Amino acid sequence: MRRARIRASGACPPSQTLKVGDNIYLALYRKYRPVTFADVFSQEHITRTLQNQIKNNQTVHAYLFTGSRGTGKTTCARILAKALNCRNHEDGNPCLKCEACEEIEKGATDISEIDAASNNGVDDVRVLREQTHYAPVSLKYRVFIIDEVHMLSAGAFNALLKTLEEPPAHVVFILATTENHKVPATILSRCQRFEFRRVNMADCAEAVKNAAQAEGASITDDAAELIARLSDGGMRDALSLLETCISHGSEVTGGVVREAAGVAGSEYIFGISEAVLAGSPVNALKIINALHGQSKDMGRFLGELIGHYRNLMLLKLIPDETSLISWLPEEADDYRRLGGMYELPGIMKCLDTLEEYYERISRSRDKRLVAELCVIQLTGDSGQRVKNSGQLTGDKGQRKVESEQLTSDNRQLSADNGQVTTTPAIEKPQEIAESRPQSGESQAETPGLAPGWSKILQGVSLPPAKLELPPVPEPVPKPVHEPPPLTEELPLPEEPPLPEEPPPADKISQFKSLLSQKGIEVKER
Ligand SMILES: [Zn+2]
Repeated sequence: MRRARIRASGACPPSQTLKVGDNIYLALYRKYRPVTFADVFSQEHITRTLQNQIKNNQTVHAYLFTGSRGTGKTTCARILAKALNCRNHEDGNPCLKCEACEEIEKGATDISEIDAASNNGVDDVRVLREQTHYAPVSLKYRVFIIDEVHMLSAGAFNALLKTLEEPPAHVVFILATTENHKVPATILSRCQRFEFRRVNMADCAEAVKNAAQAEGASITDDAAELIARLSDGGMRDALSLLETCISHGSEVTGGVVREAAGVAGSEYIFGISEAVLAGSPVNALKIINALHGQSKDMGRFLGELIGHYRNLMLLKLIPDETSLISWLPEEADDYRRLGGMYELPGIMKCLDTLEEYYERISRSRDKRLVAELCVIQLTGDSGQRVKNSGQLTGDKGQRKVESEQLTSDNRQLSADNGQVTTTPAIEKPQEIAESRPQSGESQAETPGLAPGWSKILQGVSLPPAKLELPPVPEPVPKPVHEPPPLTEELPLPEEPPLPEEPPPADKISQFKSLLSQKGIEVKER
């Protein structure tokens, strides 16, 4: 139905999007980039300070803008570069009319924008340092905007240090980074730091609506709010998503946004949480299968489930403070209904499980399998069932159940005390359900569903080769013939006895007799 609606509304003609400048297409986030401090969203604490500095001529030589992506760091750096050089700024804002403003707009040589991600070496900083010695060509200040400054190498940071501390009077540095903690303290202490906040959801939705209107597209309120929510406070992401939606058609609805963003509809999210309540892995697995069929990103889906359970948690804790909850207006009733059915410890347990699998899914080759394991664990009373069927646990009772499921042998060797105990080959599911600890999450409400779980699990065939278990080292086989112990000494072959040397006196007498036999007389001294 959704697809039919998109097709019926028709595709956006290319002329609508190719109308800026010299027929060069500009991405929406560039097209609607704020040009004065007054246009910047959700950063009043920064823009007000900068405007005051410009008005009072109290600007400093080095700024550091930090904050997550799409919050306006580079935009503010460009506006500040203009405002610093503007000849008749208005309330600290660049006038956009004077020669300096126009020149910067065209790309002035005195304003250098450097991407530290690709120019991160010592030599790059040396070149930059050389440039600081030259006076500005036409403007008042040479401004160096260094984006992603945390990417500079340690040597490059050191090379920058001295220049950053005492630059020539005509030089201003504006450093921007998403990862403040990677910037050395020596650099931080030499800059005036501004921390950018995530763009407010309402501001973001408003900006999205304005941009859609300017593009000649219609957008529903829930679509604008969904875009704002999905972009998580990043203006660039929001406008990029809007752009994708507009390329689907000039009528942007919630369904179009979900389609464009590749996120699952709220019906899938609520479907999973209801399957968890009912303890029904089959329903949950069907949902995963449907999402897989639509090529949805399973990692993102788990992320959405985390957001969903977070909403439920907040609704339980602070039902009156809904501003903290990230939901669409039409979802509020569903959340309240679902919140009434969950207990807080159960929600917390689900969040723990989801966090664990969310971390795991990024490393896995088979994301669908991880998502399936996750929902089986969620529906199976916080994973007790899954643990029993595959993992060793320290609990004696759980090990008993595991042994009965995996082997047909009805005799079990207890690892704890070494005794051989006899247990029945098949234990009634009811007994297993009773031996399981009750978390009070969902089983208490749906006791009738619990006994059938083992059959369901047996029906789900999970290829063991794809499980991400750590490799188990193969045991080294013991040699049949053990070598003799090293301490035992081997008998050494007996050496032939050495001929005894005659004493020197005997040798002399032998020599004498030999000489006398030859007729030589030997005279002794
Ligand atoms: Zn100006």
